[in-house]
Amino acid sequence: MIVTPSPQSLELAITILKKGDLIGLPTETVYGLAGDATNDLAVAKIFESKNRPSINPLIIHGSSQETLKNHVEWNTFAQLLADSFWPGPLTLVLPRKASSSISLLASCGLETLAVRIPNHPVALNLLSAITKPLAAPSANRSGRVSSTRAEHVEEDFPTLVILDGGDTTIGLESTILDLTTPHPTLLRPGGISREELEEVIGPISLPTTGGIKAPGMMKSHYAPSLPLRLNALEARTGEAFLGFGPTLAQSNLNLSVTGDLREAAVNLFKMLRLLDRKDFKGIAVAQIPTQGLGLALNDRLQRASAPRDI
Ligand code: AMP
Ligand code: MG
Repeated sequence: MIVTPSPQSLELAITILKKGDLIGLPTETVYGLAGDATNDLAVAKIFESKNRPSINPLIIHGSSQETLKNHVEWNTFAQLLADSFWPGPLTLVLPRKASSSISLLASCGLETLAVRIPNHPVALNLLSAITKPLAAPSANRSGRVSSTRAEHVEEDFPTLVILDGGDTTIGLESTILDLTTPHPTLLRPGGISREELEEVIGPISLPTTGGIKAPGMMKSHYAPSLPLRLNALEARTGEAFLGFGPTLAQSNLNLSVTGDLREAAVNLFKMLRLLDRKDFKGIAVAQIPTQGLGLALNDRLQRASAPRDI
């Protein structure tokens, strides 16, 4: 359902978000499928609804520098860039604060968070009224193009409440800049050009130099320090067992005793962290079905179990 922005429809959107459900949010780049970034289940619903074969970390949207500073470790580059380009199509990757309440699923277990302030009056009104950061990837199902108007979003998500913000003005994703690397690194070109950024902070590195992956790229996959063994039936000597569904084998933790994939998504990164301890020599993970959200969960586990690229 497409709704015209008004105090009433904003109130409706806030009620939906506070319940942990999703809305269609206009931004200046593309329309977002938005959910409360501090609510694990809302974030799981985002991944589930997009129906993608993979789970990627989400951009966290806030209405002000102050609200975002509650979640990330700020630095001088961030200040210069935020003052020059926010609100606007620039996403900054910064270290996550230990005290941040952002869902671990939203950042796929990473120690960093990608944050920005969108430049759209409807998004800004909503974000400041709800006073919660929103996770919002592009509002399209897997294999479909990003949505630049409310009607596109409705085609992909017929039951979603979508705030109508007209045609997006940029129609291109945000530029992503990693500020956790020794030199700022461009992770994705987008609405703000490299040259514009360099005018403010000087030279910026590109993610690949001479075929060697830049640190920013390597860090975009979470991996526990212990080796992961997937599709395991039970733990071998010394291993921890991360179960799924009702299992006969003794499990240290279970992603979802009832076999609920959304619950498993919520628990995945938390439980991997809990089991990533020196007293185990590896983590054996039970088989997870490959339908629905399970396909994306398997993809994440495979990437977390791949040999480290350092
Ligand atoms: P979008 O598709 O516009 O929602 O942007 C999401 C992109 O942001 C993904 O492709 C991620 O790779 C990137 N991203 C989000 N969080 C991080 C992070 N903490 N570190 C590096 N990249 C990130
Ligand atoms: Mg997209």
